[in-house]
Amino acid sequence: MESRRNMFFSYKKDPEKLPDIQKLITLAEEQGFVVVDDYKEANIIVGVGGDGAFLQAVRKSGFRDDCLYVGVTDEVEASLYCDFHIHDTEKMIEAIQTAGVEVRRYPVIDVHIDGESHFKCLNELSVRSSIIKTLVMDVHIDDLHFETFRGDGIVVSTPTGSTAYNRSLNGAVVDPRIPCMQVNEMASLNNNQFRTLGSSFILHSDRKLTLSIPQDGNNYPVIGLDNEALSIQNIQNIEVEMTGSIIKTVKLKNNSFWHKVQRTFL
Ligand code: NAP
Repeated sequence: MESRRNMFFSYKKDPEKLPDIQKLITLAEEQGFVVVDDYKEANIIVGVGGDGAFLQAVRKSGFRDDCLYVGVTDEVEASLYCDFHIHDTEKMIEAIQTAGVEVRRYPVIDVHIDGESHFKCLNELSVRSSIIKTLVMDVHIDDLHFETFRGDGIVVSTPTGSTAYNRSLNGAVVDPRIPCMQVNEMASLNNNQFRTLGSSFILHSDRKLTLSIPQDGNNYPVIGLDNEALSIQNIQNIEVEMTGSIIKTVKLKNNSFWHKVQRTFL
């Protein structure tokens, strides 16, 4: 962390939590960091709150690959993206002073909607019907028309997102050292006309997944990009791929992804 000195804090302006955040800012300054008001000037971006706050910090700062993201939780529960607890200042100081910090790279998925808008996701892309009717999507893997889905929606998750929405849909937890995307269905309707694989599947990072939405009246699904929702009318094609985008975060000793999974779920 020696050469990285400009730190930006991203947090919800909750008056109850401000005193703790102020203590954190003071600690950072005492340790020689320059706390900046503009994330563009930062090379360390700290998301304070929990996994949701970390996802917001990454999204709002534009998924920068030239800075280090740090997650600090203020909740009792362990968090998958947060290596520090807001009250565990000793651990933070130790990490800074002993250089006991390695960089860990988390793969991110790239989403193109109708060849125009481009978005990134750290947890997942979710495409859900915004009305009570089922949503139909043609699922293509590269150039192969793989299946026609009809149901509530589809979730495409990254490895670090595999412990979130994907896991609630019985998807597998995936090691983030494997850059890949997991495709999972939400309440698919299976009958003689519509048939889907019925289980989640994992795609290599060099594959492209395309979800094509027929213009049948239900073509304005809710698009979830981690914890942000987009509502776009007349969507035709959603392309999802991994182009090598990553975000960097801290890795403390004895705190691998699998330590966190164990701590959170077992
Ligand atoms: P939220 O709906 O308030 O909370 C969702 C929960 O998921 C929170 O406990 C959050 O942790 C946790 N979480 C977030 N990312 C995680 C990860 N990678 N691994 C394990 N747990 C994770 O929304 P939020 O806090 O802003 O988080 C957004 C995420 O919620 C979405 O990206 C999606 O994955 C997930 N989600 C899940 C479902 C579901 O399981 N049915 C439905 C919608 C969304 P914190 O409390 O530390 O924030």
